[in-house]
Amino acid sequence: MRPTVLCFSGLDPSGGAGLQADIEAIGQSGAHAAIACTALTIQNSQQVFGFEATSKQLLLAQANAVVGDLPIKAVKSGMLGTTDNIAALADFLREHPDYLYVLDPVLVANSGGSLGNQETLVKAFVELIPLATVITPNTVELRALTGEDNIEQATQKLFEMGAQAVLVKGGHEDTPDYIRNALYVNGEMITESKCPRLAGEYHGSGCSLASFIAGRLALGDQLKIAVQHAETWLFGVLKNAETPIEGGQKIPKRF
Ligand code: PLP
Repeated sequence: MRPTVLCFSGLDPSGGAGLQADIEAIGQSGAHAAIACTALTIQNSQQVFGFEATSKQLLLAQANAVVGDLPIKAVKSGMLGTTDNIAALADFLREHPDYLYVLDPVLVANSGGSLGNQETLVKAFVELIPLATVITPNTVELRALTGEDNIEQATQKLFEMGAQAVLVKGGHEDTPDYIRNALYVNGEMITESKCPRLAGEYHGSGCSLASFIAGRLALGDQLKIAVQHAETWLFGVLKNAETPIEGGQKIPKRF
């Protein structure tokens, strides 16, 4: 059986982000996706209307049901919804130190809607940071996690908080023509990439990138190679993204 990535992520009914993005991206990476669902959200491609989080007992029961059943090589987390779920995932990861772990520190939806109480989530994420093989914040999340405005200082602060590797995604920075991402390992930038900025807003681009990285890591890629594969793949699926009827955020075409 293909190496499996166990995703802790929420349901987005639009199919653009969340667990559907994870399943599609991981499938495209060549790995198999398993899901422990953290929350059911109510949203479309334009806005989030609300969500109901899974209890930590139910979340861990889902995850534990597939441990030993599937060849899990990596864990990926996206929307976790509550501090209880963050603590439960931290316990789960400490029980399975051999799993690679991609932490996408989701705080709000790309459309701007709340996916949890940002202040308490930020405090709880501190426990997950040292457990991650790589953390994939956009610059809004990076600033929120560290309280630092300057990107370089914020990245270094994340390493002081125990991070092993950080992929800083520049999609929210004011670079009208391009997006620059930079991969840091142990405080040092080891590679950066620039791609042309595509017009419009995309629903689930962060989920897709982090999941593809997790899939490639599960298959044995080195981190730098996994990130390069994922960035190339993401650019293609965003270029082919489809526009919803009411003109909401574009939905990446991952097949
Ligand atoms: N997870 C869920 C369930 C979501 O609904 C969203 C955004 O709507 C995200 C994660 C983060 O999505 P993005 O990849 O657009 O940052």
